[in-house]
Amino acid sequence: MGQYDVDLFVIGGGSGGVRAARVAAEHGARVAIAEEHRWGGTCVIRGCVPKKLLVYASEASRAIEDARGHGWTIEGVSHDWAALVAAKEREISRLSAAYSTRLQKAGVEVITGRATLADANTVVIAGRRITAKFILIATGGRARRPPGKWITSDEAFDLPALPNRIAILGGGYIGVEFAHIFAGFGARVTLIHRDTHVLRGFDPEVREAVTRGLVAHGVEVIACDKLVAAGHTLTANGTTFEVDLAMAAIGRDPATAGLGLDRAGVALDGRGAITVDEWSRTNVPSIYAVGDVTGRVPLTPVAIREGHALADTLFGNRPTPIRHHLIPTAVFAQPPAATIGMTEPAARAAGHEVVVFRAKFRPMRYALSGRDEQVVIKLIVDRPTDRVLGLHMVGPDSPEIIQAAAIAITMGATKADLDRTFALHPSTAEELVLLR
Ligand code: FAD
Repeated sequence: MGQYDVDLFVIGGGSGGVRAARVAAEHGARVAIAEEHRWGGTCVIRGCVPKKLLVYASEASRAIEDARGHGWTIEGVSHDWAALVAAKEREISRLSAAYSTRLQKAGVEVITGRATLADANTVVIAGRRITAKFILIATGGRARRPPGKWITSDEAFDLPALPNRIAILGGGYIGVEFAHIFAGFGARVTLIHRDTHVLRGFDPEVREAVTRGLVAHGVEVIACDKLVAAGHTLTANGTTFEVDLAMAAIGRDPATAGLGLDRAGVALDGRGAITVDEWSRTNVPSIYAVGDVTGRVPLTPVAIREGHALADTLFGNRPTPIRHHLIPTAVFAQPPAATIGMTEPAARAAGHEVVVFRAKFRPMRYALSGRDEQVVIKLIVDRPTDRVLGLHMVGPDSPEIIQAAAIAITMGATKADLDRTFALHPSTAEELVLLR
């Protein structure tokens, strides 16, 4: 290995890159990592973490409404958006610094700047040429931005003030989450989506419940596939309206542009993502890729798992391929939705003989507040084996419940296993073991 400056050079200090760099160094490898923006990447700086902080802040308005039904008198309620953004920024800065410190403590050389490939074993950064036995590309993705006056989620986190009238284009999870966030603070939000129901790809009953939840939260949901935008004047389905802010949440593209991948001969797929196998190997033997840049499953725990597995494989004497199977995920709508495994249509399309169990009920949490909102639980079971193929839920705490249920499902839980589990009463999650 002496012929190279380092054993591993990681491009991108986000979820996947940071984990791979740290674990590789802990295995004894000589590692350097480059980050062009802020340490922690999308999740920490402009993704999961600030998003969840804004969700907590926004859903406080629901808690205040519900508290009135519990006898509280609450007067003079107001919200200071700028104070929230400043507090969020302090937390992000703390986390970002912790990422960089942890890398350095593990012995990783931490380099700030934009890195590009010169060839299959050479990275160029800040005027330096660094040779590496292996190079890991973990550059993530970038928000797609239509032409015109659209912001994306990148800017939504740092708006100087909360506008009154907001349009969101896109009914994926980011569009849905921001529609709820802004509506919770009192903005008038219109969400424009191609389908009648948001969250394409989720189970139809989740899509229906989340769309209903948006409307109940005061969000106007418009199904329209030909939106005309002239600045902040939008025309959807023949109706023209003005907004103060237009946000596009229409997807993210792998960040491969200008990296010099062509110089190294790295192959991309039709969507511009780096093609890799289950070992995160590209077509170039010295170059690997993990996370959103590979176009596999664009979630933080997946990028982290891929980065960790790669470090174990290359330097830990522990070959670890990645299977993208049974990945729990949540949409932090208000109330949230969470899911693991197959949707009912996907299970049927895969040839399973399916039994579906469902529960729809108003949770006790709303008994006194009178909130008209139902929890939806849907369990998909394979009839011949009795195994749980999928579990989908919309309702308070559903991400926490699905994460715990994911352990049982990953272990191969059957419906009979759920049936013989005692209920924890009174709880929402007990319905999982009471489905008949
Ligand atoms: P990233 O975290 O994007 O890191 C890539 C890094 O590489 C970036 O910091 C970038 O600056 C750097 N970089 C790029 N090019 C170069 C270069 N040439 N030189 C040096 N540095 C470079 N996932 C979840 O699991 N749960 C959620 O709730 C969730 N919410 C999200 C909300 C939003 C609004 C967004 C946008 C994403 C969300 N995600 C969520 C997705 C999650 O953030 C990503 O899946 C995850 O960050 C991917 O990690 P990564 O390592 O592939 O890339």
